[in-house]
Amino acid sequence: MDSQENPSRKVVPIAPVAATSAEAGDSTQEVISLYVAHQKIYPRSVQGLFAYWRWALVFITQIIFYGLPWLEWGQRQAVLFDLGARRFYIFGFVLYPQDFIYLTAILVISAFSLFLFTAVAGRLWCGYACPQTVYSEIFLWVERKIEGDRTARMKLDASGMSLEKLFKKWYKHIVWLGIAMWTGFTFVGYFTPIRDLGMEFFTGNMSSWEVFWVFFYALATYGNAGFMREQVCKYMCPYARFQSAMFDKDTLIVTYDEARGEPRGARSKKADHKALGLGACVDCSLCVQVCPTGIDIRKGLQYECIGCGACADVCDTVMEKVGYAKGLVKYSTQNAMAGGWSREQTWRRVLRPRVLLYTGILALVTLALMLSLAVRKPFKVDVVRDRAALARIVSGGQIENVYRLQIMNAAEKPLHFKLSAEGVQGLQLVTENDVLVPATESRWISVRLHLPYDAAQPGSHPIHFHIQAYEEGKEVVDTLSEKSVFLVPR
Ligand code: SF4
Ligand code: SF4
Repeated sequence: MDSQENPSRKVVPIAPVAATSAEAGDSTQEVISLYVAHQKIYPRSVQGLFAYWRWALVFITQIIFYGLPWLEWGQRQAVLFDLGARRFYIFGFVLYPQDFIYLTAILVISAFSLFLFTAVAGRLWCGYACPQTVYSEIFLWVERKIEGDRTARMKLDASGMSLEKLFKKWYKHIVWLGIAMWTGFTFVGYFTPIRDLGMEFFTGNMSSWEVFWVFFYALATYGNAGFMREQVCKYMCPYARFQSAMFDKDTLIVTYDEARGEPRGARSKKADHKALGLGACVDCSLCVQVCPTGIDIRKGLQYECIGCGACADVCDTVMEKVGYAKGLVKYSTQNAMAGGWSREQTWRRVLRPRVLLYTGILALVTLALMLSLAVRKPFKVDVVRDRAALARIVSGGQIENVYRLQIMNAAEKPLHFKLSAEGVQGLQLVTENDVLVPATESRWISVRLHLPYDAAQPGSHPIHFHIQAYEEGKEVVDTLSEKSVFLVPR
């Protein structure tokens, strides 16, 4: 067994006397221990198509993550989730908590994208874009640059303390901590203006919450990517547990072609392996050595497999070296493996009903979100009836109802709001009917409506508030109507 294989699984011989007649021909059994000491994994570096894609995604996701908070949009940060002011700024959009529906739509889109990608190609998210994978990849890269590749790292860890070891370990941890701190700082920069945060950071004026979140996120990154690594995927991430519900026999997964590879065994490069009765697997164990979760793909699909394709990349290089066809370990489906399908036949099964259903729902929700954003009004109004006095008679024999209106200006310029109400003959708005609300601010105002005493029957009458938004000295920007009721007492 390779030292990197799962230590919880051991094949042990069993005494013939203990075997039942059904087991008589099998003298081994697998003992799975539930409690085993963690064995550090030293993934070997790998190059190939899937490694290339993973690094491409590391770059894309990290350029976006680290770069986005520094982008300016007009006079403000382009993307800022200002929790204190309850405003979310996303490029040209200023969203209020009342715009929660957009967040819901984004969550639905994310969920269906995950269902779709998983149904098509298994754990694509885990293998290529999950922050745990991305940061582990970055931290591993630093580790390799400082301590060397797998064998050098194993030797270094096994050796006694020396000046060289101390230097390498310190150096690595300092670089890791630097990346982790920068990650924590960037994360908080999405919630507080990052330029101000930078100034506060260097002058020691950060608020206690900012300090807490910068260090919390930094420590989480340092711990998860530097130490926990595959354990997060194996023991903490719930996604690994429910992924099988999204898989079917046409889902692309990283698979070992057992029919072609077995019986495995070492051989000389010049030997005819078929004449030797061997399959294509040269049993070099490189697929195990590159695996970030330390499993052996030749044992079949395992929940620990994050679908990163590292074993497929390394096996292709081995096949190339020994002069065999590539693809002994490859992305394929259970149906394709069982039926010996060609690549075209396999890809044709991608467009199956569940994939089409996920795609359809995804397209619909995305379209609805885009349309809704396109026709979104630059302001919102909430009408709340005054609960202290439902209705009262005031001087002049008028019935008065009082309302509180929250006017939210989602535009990046000050707007005037002209108010009126209608729904019952004789209804009059007797308070200020032109309100100025500064850019991206919201304002509560008290509004009183009067109705002559005998103008309507006692009871509740539906009414509408009409709100017109306009810029100082300019035309109306947009209009809005909000429903409410006017109560006439008996
Ligand atoms: S890398 Fe390929 S050839 Fe080597 S042990 Fe793994 S499956 Fe066999
Ligand atoms: S078995 Fe292969 S695809 Fe799965 S995690 Fe290991 S290296 Fe990645």
